[in-house]
Amino acid sequence: MLAGLLPAWAAVSLVWAAPDSLYYEARPAMGTTVEVYLYAAGAGRAEALFEAAFDEVERIEAAFSTYRPTSELSRINTYADATPVTTDPEVFALIDHALAYSRSTDGAFDITVGRLMKAWGFFRGQGRYPSREELLEARKKTGWAYVTLDSTARTVRFGKMGLQLDVGAIGKGYAIDQVARLLRAQGVEAALIGTGQSSYYAVGAPPGEAGWPVRVPAPFDHAQTLSTVYLRDAALSTSGNYEKFFELEGKQYCHIMDPRTGRPVEGMVQVTVIAPNAADSDALATSVFVLGIDAGATLLDEQAGTAALLVTGPKAQARVVSLGWPEEIAEGIQ
Ligand code: ADP
Ligand code: MG
Repeated sequence: MLAGLLPAWAAVSLVWAAPDSLYYEARPAMGTTVEVYLYAAGAGRAEALFEAAFDEVERIEAAFSTYRPTSELSRINTYADATPVTTDPEVFALIDHALAYSRSTDGAFDITVGRLMKAWGFFRGQGRYPSREELLEARKKTGWAYVTLDSTARTVRFGKMGLQLDVGAIGKGYAIDQVARLLRAQGVEAALIGTGQSSYYAVGAPPGEAGWPVRVPAPFDHAQTLSTVYLRDAALSTSGNYEKFFELEGKQYCHIMDPRTGRPVEGMVQVTVIAPNAADSDALATSVFVLGIDAGATLLDEQAGTAALLVTGPKAQARVVSLGWPEEIAEGIQ
């Protein structure tokens, strides 16, 4: 009866192809592990998609890594205090985007923290307390306002000798977004791309599901879950004081700097942000980590589609704060 009501081509489309299956691959990149989950029609197709995805991560890492002397960002860091450096549209756009965050956060987010990261021993190291001189020197060579972009000539120029750009707080998110864009362009309808539990972007959702389940770990015991988010065409990033830190005389110093003091942020344990894309969730998580609850809330109010879950310390007085968090939050965090 149905066939009688439908044109001939419809009958053909009623013969369903086998449903896509879930495939997963993880590879080390960007100083962490990049994970890709995707639904594809077969193993061969999935393999081709993984190759394209990880090639894209490598392309972005080759451009932005400050651990690679050959990267475009390293080239800018080497020459931009002597002369305006012409760069490619992609690198220019990400620096421009990062500087916009510096403006909107009043300098809490600042990609010129490169010197501070080195002074505090977080570049190729696990951290250490700097001498007074080192710190003074590093602070002198920090400040987003010293970076001048010329969008017509597409140049980057430092107004201060020794400035060093470091996109560690936005680059991984950006890479995830680009992988998502690539997979979408290849016709992928459901994928989850993640970097070592710090950022995720979800393309669509697994068949029949509301979204990709992404866990926000409890800050003091990562095996436990503080909240589970069902992400769909959205991103989530977590910045934690436990990612990289060192301890001195019972005090903990983390790898997120407050550029306004030149010191690691104190009092914040973990910030998770949901945003429409991963470059923004990544940058916002770091920004809110530095800004704290009130200024962080004001910042998120200005950006559509965002929400955050904060944990402040110390551990004995840990507090969980929701800024429009859409999901259930576990009681009694550890
Ligand atoms: P993770 O890399 O662990 O996911 P974040 O996204 O918060 O954590 O990024 C931390 C990195 O960002 C640091 O390693 C450093 O490179 C850089 N960074 C530190 N403090 C700041 C800041 N205030 N603004 C911008 N970038 C920062
Ligand atoms: Mg970040």
